[in-house]
Amino acid sequence: MSRESFEQRLPYNARGKYYVCEDCLDCDLCRETAPTIFGRQDDEGASFVKKQPETEEELSLVRESLEGCPCEAIHDDGDVFDWSLPPATKRPAWRVGLAEKPACKHCQPRPWWKFWG
Ligand code: SF4
Repeated sequence: MSRESFEQRLPYNARGKYYVCEDCLDCDLCRETAPTIFGRQDDEGASFVKKQPETEEELSLVRESLEGCPCEAIHDDGDVFDWSLPPATKRPAWRVGLAEKPACKHCQPRPWWKFWG
């Protein structure tokens, strides 16, 4: 559980247990895995939770997305915080054009030797 992650949540998330924070690098993994749950905010270039999971299948896909997210940007503690508090106003420098977007582990090509072992 991390208050810091919750404060860094993107403002488009549907309120509830799961949410995406500013660390999202838009790799598309969660949207591919759980398309009914995750959407893309095009201006931000980031995913957000457009709907909280309602079925066992959706829940399983959200858990898979959370575990697979290379940026650890999906969180599951949204039910313990107060959603009426606004997200933090201090945004990562790269999101506001003051730094380069960090590299995403998922999107980077793997060197050939990483395919074994
Ligand atoms: S898997 Fe993580 S980094 Fe990739 S789009 Fe989803 S939230 Fe963003």
